[in-house]
Amino acid sequence: MSTAHRFAPFGTTIFSEMTALANTHQAVNLAQGFPDFDGPSIGKKQAIQAINQGHNQYAPMPGTQTLREAIASWASRITGIDANPDTEITVTAGCTQAIAATILGLINPADEVIIFEPYYDSYRACLAMADAKAVFVTLHPTEDGFAYRPEELANAFSNKTKAILINTPHNPTGVVFTDAQLDEIASLCIKHDAIAIADEVYERLVYPGNTHRSIASLPGMRQRTVVLSSSGKSFSLTGWKVGWSIAPPDLTVGIRSAHQFLTFSVATPLQYGIAELLNHGQEEIDKLLTHYTHTRSLLAEALDELGFGVRQPQGSYFIMAQHRQITEKLGLTSDIELCRWLPINAGVAAIPPSAFYSDPSQGAPFVRFAFCKQTKTIDKAITRLRSALTEPNASK
Ligand code: GLN
Repeated sequence: MSTAHRFAPFGTTIFSEMTALANTHQAVNLAQGFPDFDGPSIGKKQAIQAINQGHNQYAPMPGTQTLREAIASWASRITGIDANPDTEITVTAGCTQAIAATILGLINPADEVIIFEPYYDSYRACLAMADAKAVFVTLHPTEDGFAYRPEELANAFSNKTKAILINTPHNPTGVVFTDAQLDEIASLCIKHDAIAIADEVYERLVYPGNTHRSIASLPGMRQRTVVLSSSGKSFSLTGWKVGWSIAPPDLTVGIRSAHQFLTFSVATPLQYGIAELLNHGQEEIDKLLTHYTHTRSLLAEALDELGFGVRQPQGSYFIMAQHRQITEKLGLTSDIELCRWLPINAGVAAIPPSAFYSDPSQGAPFVRFAFCKQTKTIDKAITRLRSALTEPNASK
């Protein structure tokens, strides 16, 4: 094996694996989180115009001025954070690269970084690249969602803690961290002089009755917080891979030190397209949110009716459901077995969340479904699940 040791534990990402399985069996792909519809035309037109006008050479390393200004104005509208486009904003190749640049640019070997589990898989891989130590805090299932236990969070902090990674709205559980939780995390960061790395890519996908707050907006936090986000989720353009970081100047220097050697800069014409959407795309976001509010209920109700244990997500576009009642009937045990069974026997693909835990057995009782799809796609998945899971010889 020629793969470097640091990547040995990670293999192929679960997203690629499950999408490949979905394609092989022509299954409805509710696994990888990407929309099966196109992004808004105003962004595409602007990007095409930029190509035709010759904006085809390297963008400035931190991003085009137009896009950095648009990000500053977007951040101030959404979360009330005022950021200087020149010294505090860096455009990256999606949020995944912003995570890598932040970790590689700010974390030293042997530093400890706290991550909540289930976690987005790249956090751990990036910490491995930085030779840092991941310290895990579990979001345990509760009556209405998932939450950390305050004593477990407090115990995770030590004098080696350099940072904590907070993803809210959260993938895969769909929880939106409460104000009280953010206050508690903020006071621990301040007490231990730790950086907050806030992955807020689902910041606009928050369902009625819930509010997204950035930890950067809390007293004493702006100067120690790196806010990471992207345009992929808010504008259904996951393939454009345009993301960003917002951080105080001293942290931005570190992030850019890594960014300049990871990709140097990001696709120039796409930056024009995204700037247009950040400035003029509110109507598109409103429409998207109405649609996802609908597909969320549609899928959640159907899963519940089929016997999955469903907690209605407050944000993001994922449902993390308990599958015991289903798997017991099918004679299966784990999430992995179920996610291998589903595409073949039901024609629907999902993600096994054990890939998102340091101890995979914690994720084994769950299965993650994405609802960022057209209504007809969700309908098709529901019809297929119903027929595979409720017919007498369900295991075929
Ligand atoms: N964020 C998306 C998900 O969680 C996809 C990530 C990826 O494909 N790397 O499904």
